[in-house]
Amino acid sequence: MYFKKLELFGFKSFAEKTALHFEPGITAVVGPNGCGKSNVFDSIRWVLGEQSVKSLRGSKMEDVIFNGTENIPALGYAEVSLTFANENKALPIDYDEVTVTRRLFRSGESEYLINKTQVRLKDILELFMGTGIGAESYSLIEQGKIDLILSSRPEDRRLVFDEAAGISKYKSQKRETTRKLEDTEQNLLRINDIILEVKRQINSLERQAAKARRYKEVFERLKSLETQVSALALKQYQEKQDELNQQLSRSIGLESQTAQGIEQLCNEESAQKDELRQLEEKVSSVRAKIAELENTISYDSQQLGFNHERVEEAKKRILAIDEQRKAL
Ligand code: ATP
Repeated sequence: MYFKKLELFGFKSFAEKTALHFEPGITAVVGPNGCGKSNVFDSIRWVLGEQSVKSLRGSKMEDVIFNGTENIPALGYAEVSLTFANENKALPIDYDEVTVTRRLFRSGESEYLINKTQVRLKDILELFMGTGIGAESYSLIEQGKIDLILSSRPEDRRLVFDEAAGISKYKSQKRETTRKLEDTEQNLLRINDIILEVKRQINSLERQAAKARRYKEVFERLKSLETQVSALALKQYQEKQDELNQQLSRSIGLESQTAQGIEQLCNEESAQKDELRQLEEKVSSVRAKIAELENTISYDSQQLGFNHERVEEAKKRILAIDEQRKAL
């Protein structure tokens, strides 16, 4: 496995698209001070996933994007692609040629690609882990790095040997697995808590379900009783209605009879009134006659009184005559 090609666009001093082709064996980059040799080295670290801005000799990640010169305007993004010859499958991917690409926009958005397929940074790091090529690996030795390795603590030096021995990948996987295991244990604890809570809820729900069943039974019983009561009441109402209907028809018959009686009485009243009127007429005529007779009687009485006196006088003369005759 070896680098085949490095393509840069907008990375640090490489404003124009630049491609560097490498052959198997040693490649030396030479040039005057400040021409960009270290930038080539930085671009390789960067495309392999370097996250340390300090290692890239900047103050912020945006510093890797070409920031313009007097004649050339600044660019909006930086892109670096590094192509590996992978015929021996040193990289665990089923391609003879592998190209990794990193893109960074001024907005802060970044993209990683393996053979033009978008991937995560993690995928890039895993691809190179244990190969000695990663951004942090011993393959990339910048100025002063040898001194740093020699003077560093044994634990830090151990990292270099782990990577060289190819076990850093497994250590990383172990760290990842341990982290996942811890996460899983935490999840298990949470699940146990949830199970306890759910059990409590189940007990409460079972009580509620029992109450609901009891309520349903009582409700069904109540419904049945209410239906029976309603049926009974309905029967009673129907009987009452029949009775009232009979009473009504009797009353209607009675009313009709009464109306006939009233009519008859009215007729009789009217006849009696006629009769009364006739009687009153007769009474008044009789009264008139009585008055007339009384007048007549009064006159006759006067006449009679006069006659009575004459009669009495005659009787007295008769008696006198009789006494005279008797005396004779
Ligand atoms: P030396 O031999 O002294 O180490 P060098 O060849 O390694 O130098 P670099 O350090 O690679 O040079 O390049 C430095 C140059 O890159 C400087 O001219 C600097 O202005 C330019 N440079 C760095 N970052 C950017 C950027 N974001 N935009 C434009 N130019 C940049």
